[in-house]
Order: sequence, then C-alpha cells, then structure tokens
Amino acid sequence: MFGLTVLGNNSAIPAFDRHPTAQALTFADQVYLIDCGEGTQTQIAKYKIRRSRINHIFISHLHGDHYFGLIGLISSFSLMGRTAPLHLYAPAELQQILQLQMDVASNILPYPLHFHAHPTGHQIILDDGKIEVFVFPTKHRIKCYGFLFKERKWPRQIIKEAVLKYNVPAVFYQRLQQGEDYVAKDGKTLVNSILTTANKPGKEYAYTADTIFDPSLCKYFEGADLLYHETTYMNDLEKKAAERFHSTTKQAGEIAKTAKVKRLIIGHFSSKYEMLDDLLDETRAVFKNSDLGIEGVTFII
Ligand SMILES: [Zn+2]
Ligand SMILES: [Zn+2]
Repeated sequence: MFGLTVLGNNSAIPAFDRHPTAQALTFADQVYLIDCGEGTQTQIAKYKIRRSRINHIFISHLHGDHYFGLIGLISSFSLMGRTAPLHLYAPAELQQILQLQMDVASNILPYPLHFHAHPTGHQIILDDGKIEVFVFPTKHRIKCYGFLFKERKWPRQIIKEAVLKYNVPAVFYQRLQQGEDYVAKDGKTLVNSILTTANKPGKEYAYTADTIFDPSLCKYFEGADLLYHETTYMNDLEKKAAERFHSTTKQAGEIAKTAKVKRLIIGHFSSKYEMLDDLLDETRAVFKNSDLGIEGVTFII
C-alpha cells in the first residue's frame, strides 16, 4: 500500500481536537514520517502506526508546530530499546537543537541517529530502492522545504513466461527492467520488448509544508497523484495569509489546478475555524477533487 495518514492538520496550536502537523506515509514495509508536531506520538499510538517501521523522518521547517514532538519521539525510541538506525532529514539548525536537548539530559541514544541537513534548491535526498524523495524550497517566513515522494519503478516490467521460455538468468532481470536487450549464449539477441512490457510510472505524493501562494512551486510536483497543500485561511483573509506567508483555500485549489495534480488534500487549518466544511467548499470551487486532511484518515495514493 502507498498511503498517507494525516496525524495532525492544525496550524500553530492544538485546537478542537486537532493537532499540529504530522503525517505518516506508508509504503511497502516502511513508514516515512513527515513533520512531527506536538502530540505526534499520541497520534501514532491512536492510529496504530507501527513505530518500528519509522526509519526516516522529514522535517519541513523549524516553526514549533512542525517539530516540537520530535525530541519526545526520539527519546521514546530510546526507552523502547530501539537499535535500528534512524535517519532525520531537516534544516541544518535542528541538529544543534537536538544535541542541546540530549546533552542537558545526559541522554545517549542506543541507536544511530543520522542527520541529513537539507541541501539548498531542488534535490534528491533519499533513494532507498523503493522510494525516491526530493526536497524543494517553499516560500515561508523562515527557511522551509517541501517534499516529493516518488514510488521507484523500473521503466520496464518482466514478462515471466518469456524469461522462462528463453532461459534468461535471474541476474540479468534488473538490466532487462532498465530496457537492455539480452544476448543469449548462442549469440542470438532477444530484443527487450519480447521479454518486458512498459511499466506504469511510479505514484507521487507532494507535500508543500507552509508556504505563501507560489505557483512557481508547481514545477516540482506536476501531475502528482496526491498533493497536500496548506489552507491556513479562507479566501476572505487572503491579505492576512500573504502577510504571514501562508495560503488560502482558493490558492491551494489554484496550485492543484496549475500543477495538474490528480487529487488535493488540504490542511494546516487556523484555529479560527472550528468547522471545516466551508474551507472545503471554497477549495472545491476551484479544484473539484479536493478533500479535508482529516486526522486518522488514510488516503490511498
Ligand atoms: Zn505551520
Ligand atoms: Zn511555519
């Protein structure tokens, strides 16, 4: 399954039983945690996310509502006797913050914590053979980064009956998946199209974190299967949104439309709004295939 479970959809503070930002992206046997606001551990337990499957955590920026839950989670991993390495992808300054928190508590982690500072610009930051993760800068009050998660697929898919029929050795399968022809022992060339078919492109999920309305971001996730875009405010507060480097419902819809994504999930709601239906209506007026990023709901990608 390639699915996104929203763990926190509120901006700034917890309100109306909504929590600061966190998301669990499940793919194969891994859970990729995106942001880790206060309360993330509780949400992980509530929605039965397997902690042992979290090996990679991505932090978008250093506003507290996106990482104040991190030291708690890191410490709990310790208390639970974790030994597996944990990879953390975040703005460089987070390393010092965590180090100070651990030093003052004389906390020594029993597992390796590998810190990967975000590079500048649009770059790939992870390729674990199953998924590729790209980072890109968004426009916010402080340095902020969005992520694109792309299912890794070979360009070609093996036709099992064909490779068995022509006795192609298994060690050559990967090269077939990359499009190579196979030369048999008798010197005869088997063209790739006899042995494989074109694969479907990998599915994509884009997370734009906190950002002002910025259509120049669209190039990073054009045609993505799912986009999560913040809608801190409704359309009438467009000016306020711009002043605070946030976006509105209508603007999120515009981004989804311009980027030609297949589906939009909105979140990072201001605590001004107890009910969210109006936010969804405004977004859907611009981009029909939109939904509220309700906590605990898993969106299949
Ligand atoms: Zn935020
Ligand atoms: Zn922020």
